[in-house]
Amino acid sequence: MNIVLFGPPAAGKGTQAKRLVSERGLIQLSTGDMLRAARASGTELGTKVAGIMDRGDLVSDEIVIALIEEQLDANKTAAGFIFDGFPRTVAQAEALDTALTQRGMGVNNVIRLCVDDSALVNRITKRFAEEGRKDDNPESFKTRLANYNKQTAPLLPYYSAQGKLTEIDGMADMDTVSKSVADVLNANGHGQAPKKASFWSRLFGRA
Ligand code: ADP
Repeated sequence: MNIVLFGPPAAGKGTQAKRLVSERGLIQLSTGDMLRAARASGTELGTKVAGIMDRGDLVSDEIVIALIEEQLDANKTAAGFIFDGFPRTVAQAEALDTALTQRGMGVNNVIRLCVDDSALVNRITKRFAEEGRKDDNPESFKTRLANYNKQTAPLLPYYSAQGKLTEIDGMADMDTVSKSVADVLNANGHGQAPKKASFWSRLFGRA
């Protein structure tokens, strides 16, 4: 099961992705986290992307696609992936489809967390005060939101045309949002993996 968590910056994608990791044993692939890790360890890539990230602009498609492909290959036995903050452009979505197809997989579900702009601004203002993440400053956040609307929102028709998109209310509290995410996955036949085969599946040979 491969899930794309979709939504504007600060919509809560990271929080929900982490919950899915612990509940369903999926692997979270967050390009934002990967890029921050590259910066923290002072790699050439990290140095190259630092300014772009702090301004709130997108790093190149080429860079993030390479990071994702590297992780797909490093986790060949994974039960599935949660893509968080990727894809962010139509070119990235197309590259993801190609990369997954080449590996015998595909995107199964795209879940959009819908949050009002004013709520996003409030969340970011709070996070900036608490954590001091450089790109959470008001100017960079404005750029991130504008980039989302211009470059990332066009992915919605891309995925809805494929019948993969479900929208959920991201304004609710975290547990309610998690419940909505679980409902979407369960409705799409991705119930929580059973710890052990049920009586019926053993009897009929299928889960
Ligand atoms: P958020 O979802 O809160 O905006 P992320 O942690 O996903 O934050 O991303 C932080 C920054 O990392 C982005 O503003 C951008 O500069 C860069 N980045 C992350 N993912 C991508 C991506 N898929 N394509 C281009 N740039 C990305």
